[in-house]
Amino acid sequence: MNKDLNHVKQVVQDAYDFKNFHRLLCERFGYVHDDEHWRRDQLSLIEWIAAGMTKPRFPETFCSSCGKSLGAGDSGVSHCGEHE
Ligand SMILES: [Zn+2]
Repeated sequence: MNKDLNHVKQVVQDAYDFKNFHRLLCERFGYVHDDEHWRRDQLSLIEWIAAGMTKPRFPETFCSSCGKSLGAGDSGVSHCGEHE
C-alpha cells in the first residue's frame, strides 16, 4: 500500500518537474508558456525552437541617425544606409 503511494508521489513529482522544464524552455526561447494547456503546446514549441525562433533582445530597435523605429531585433543601426 505504502509502495503504491510512493509511486503516485513519484508520478506527480515527475509531472511537476516536466512542466517546470517546459516552462524553462519557453522562457529560454521566447515562447508563450500556457500554464493550463502547455501539454498541447509541446509540438509547436519544438517546431518553434527548430525554426530558430528565439526571442529578440529588444522589443523595438531604432536607427540612431534618424530615429526611425525598425521593429524587434537584437540591435539597432547607426546609419540610415543600414535600413534603407
Ligand atoms: Zn535612419
